Amino acid sequence: MKRFLMMLILYLSVISVLHAQSCPDSNHPHAIDLGIGVKFACCNVGASSPEQYGCHYAWGETEEKGVYDENSYPGRGDQRYKNRKYVDFGTDISGTRYDVAYVKWGLDWRMPTKEQLYMLRDRCKKEWITYKHVEGCRFIGPNGHSIFLPASGCRWYEDTNYVGYSGGYWSSTLSEQSSNGTSDAYFLFFDSGRIEMSHRDRASGSSVRPVKEQ
Ligand SMILES: [Zn+2]
Repeated sequence: MKRFLMMLILYLSVISVLHAQSCPDSNHPHAIDLGIGVKFACCNVGASSPEQYGCHYAWGETEEKGVYDENSYPGRGDQRYKNRKYVDFGTDISGTRYDVAYVKWGLDWRMPTKEQLYMLRDRCKKEWITYKHVEGCRFIGPNGHSIFLPASGCRWYEDTNYVGYSGGYWSSTLSEQSSNGTSDAYFLFFDSGRIEMSHRDRASGSSVRPVKEQ
């Protein structure tokens, strides 16, 4: 009996490692079916494998830049900058020319909506793991398939902060909440102790994990 239990524990450990991510080969990105409806990509925009951090984008922008702040962001509605020309991104940029997943990857790839990130958070098991020497969160779907989101940190001014400690992943959905007098956007935040949907200043740089609805 004891030996059987040992074997069972060993078997479960192997299964657990195999589920670090569910890519069939090294030809990333793959669309991973987690059993929650929408499929999530196995890696971030700007990354060529699941453990790479990829790029950080301000919400609605499709290129990285040297400085992330209010002055370099075109989506503000702050009256202090009323002479500037602003971009009206709308309330949901999924599938638009402001959607970096759609612009960079094309085809059916999109930024996830707020509801799709909620599904990832609420319908998957979550584990903080080190995958290929990178800290991050593994999301295991009801069907046993999984994806790994590295703790890619965030960008503000010229710095990239909290790499290895937390991850922030944009949704395509504008928030009614605001920081610094402008609208935020919803994003998925996690660190080793919590995973939550929150909102963040759109001028900051965060990661993007694309989805496919088919
Ligand atoms: Zn893959």
